[in-house]
Amino acid sequence: MTYIENVLSQLKERNPGEKEFHQAATEILLTLEPVLARHPEYESAALLERFVEPERAILFRVPWTDDSGKVHVNRGYRVQFNSAIGPYKGGLRFHPSVNLSVIKFLGLEQILKNSLTGLPIGGAKGGSDFDPKGKSDHEVMVFCQSFMTELYRHIGADTDVPAGDIGVGAREIGFLYGQYKRICDESTGVLTGRGLSYGGSLIRKEATGYGLIYITEEAMRLRGDSLNGKTVVISGSGNVAIYACEKAQQLGAKVVAMYDSDGCIYDEKGISLEVVRRIKEQERGRIREYADRVPGSVYKPGCKNIWDIPCDVALPCATQNEIDAEDAKKLIAHGVKYVAEGANMPSTLEAIDEFKRAGVVFLPAKAANAGGVATSALEMAQASGRMFWTAEKVDSKLKEIMINIYHNIDRAASEYGYAGDYVMGANIAGFEKVADAMFAQGIV
Ligand code: NDP
Repeated sequence: MTYIENVLSQLKERNPGEKEFHQAATEILLTLEPVLARHPEYESAALLERFVEPERAILFRVPWTDDSGKVHVNRGYRVQFNSAIGPYKGGLRFHPSVNLSVIKFLGLEQILKNSLTGLPIGGAKGGSDFDPKGKSDHEVMVFCQSFMTELYRHIGADTDVPAGDIGVGAREIGFLYGQYKRICDESTGVLTGRGLSYGGSLIRKEATGYGLIYITEEAMRLRGDSLNGKTVVISGSGNVAIYACEKAQQLGAKVVAMYDSDGCIYDEKGISLEVVRRIKEQERGRIREYADRVPGSVYKPGCKNIWDIPCDVALPCATQNEIDAEDAKKLIAHGVKYVAEGANMPSTLEAIDEFKRAGVVFLPAKAANAGGVATSALEMAQASGRMFWTAEKVDSKLKEIMINIYHNIDRAASEYGYAGDYVMGANIAGFEKVADAMFAQGIV
């Protein structure tokens, strides 16, 4: 058994049933062979064993009372995975599917993603199995206050800086920040994604979606191609999906489909983002309402059929494992040329193999969706300097970071003999820096 196989086998034995964590660890570790071959000293320092073990995992009770007076108990998580290159950083997810395995897979991915941004931020992730959907604003506030009443003691502007993710948007960040400030009596950049009136950064809300398009456009540009005139399918209709759609449309692409967890809309003339935003951002409604408002568009229940729609560029922006091998084959058969992951781990390992075999340009999440956390780090820089940058400045830094990420993963892939394989490139480039920092800091 090789060193990597041994670490993976121990990981599965020590963390039984954590299938998402096993999947992410397998995807990452199997690509690190060439780095370990160059650095035999990592094995004697048990560097990989330490890399896959969170520095700290916090699990806590979150009791709260709904509007009818009924008491509920949810579970809260914060996994502070790795602080070798900077304070822990990573979002909070509120969704019924959240469990320790999901948070650990997201945390492990986050370590490498944060490293790829080139900024000094370590990796973490957290959240709860609480579902904000269908809850009143008051119930969401009460929940967020209870969640923060435990979380506050574990985070801080120089320790751990959470942000949003699925189910945690501007409203939730506002309630979480209000409670943190009330308990700690401090106005610091302890959370990112804050509102502009209380320390947030311009372009943070747009950053993951815009960043996804900037890196895709760079990959296309270097192939003599561009988004202009291309047909694009985007899954999801949340924060990442909406701003990916906005930037893709600005660059001349035609986005023909989006979805939420109930079903998918198809609009062959091109999605009207204004209508989607009204339904999702203002009314907190369901995507099916789009078809009632936009003549000629079609709604189909179920998410899976979105991958039947022919497109040049597919941007999965909803959740993990939304594209399996069968979906990948359908996309390929319909001529997809580029797949860039806005969501975290939206493609299964088998789907990635299909894309690679077919020569699809595949940009993995940890590179392609790093724009959100990169701009969070820019928000941290503004908060600690007590200043605000213009939208143009933040946007141009975001673009520069995404272009650098592309060149960095491209270089790493080529340097190690895997030209064009951006899964290899992203894992290797992200890991090199973290491993170097961990090794330099001794056995900690
Ligand atoms: P939002 O909560 O704003 O939107 C999530 C979207 O995905 C919604 O349309 C939601 O539909 C859909 N969705 C969620 N779960 C499922 C599911 N199990 N099946 C089908 N559809 C689902 O989240 P974000 O846009 O912030 O996040 C989307 C993805 O991007 C996640 O993987 C997240 O980790 C990743 N990401 C987000 C970043 C950010 O800055 N926000 C940064 C980097 C990555 P519905 O409304 O019906 O639930």
